[in-house]
Amino acid sequence: MKNLLLIFGLILLYGCGCKDNTFEPYINQLLEYCKAYDVNCDKVGLVSISFGDVPVGDAGVCNYSYPFGNIIISESHWNNYNDCEKEILILHEYGHCAFGYTDNYLQFTSKEINNIIAPEINMPQNIMFWGAMVTASFYCSNSIDKDYYLTDYFENL
Ligand SMILES: [Zn+2]
Repeated sequence: MKNLLLIFGLILLYGCGCKDNTFEPYINQLLEYCKAYDVNCDKVGLVSISFGDVPVGDAGVCNYSYPFGNIIISESHWNNYNDCEKEILILHEYGHCAFGYTDNYLQFTSKEINNIIAPEINMPQNIMFWGAMVTASFYCSNSIDKDYYLTDYFENL
């Protein structure tokens, strides 16, 4: 019984893969991409996600905790985003919590792509860019193929 309580306590402390239903369509989208890009995304299901307080200015945060992190999303930011922006926020935070990417971990290998994407700040823009919502303005525009971003995201797993 003591052990059971301990295990339950650990689950509470370290996350339980709990999810607010709000995020389900976006998590399902991520899982669809996993299939399309033929990568194993089993870890996605183990990460908790909910609305809550995040550092000022942030839209979301991944709190790393053993064995898997939990994602906190700012509800006020979320409510201001369109579907595509929500999608990239989810990809970004799961990039941290499920796949272990740090901000700016991913780099486009093609200079040409970099120049198309971010000539003004001369910096690769990708899903794990710390200002992911800047990336969203490209990712969500019709002029740039989402596949560039998703390949970059998934090929490093
Ligand atoms: Zn980040």
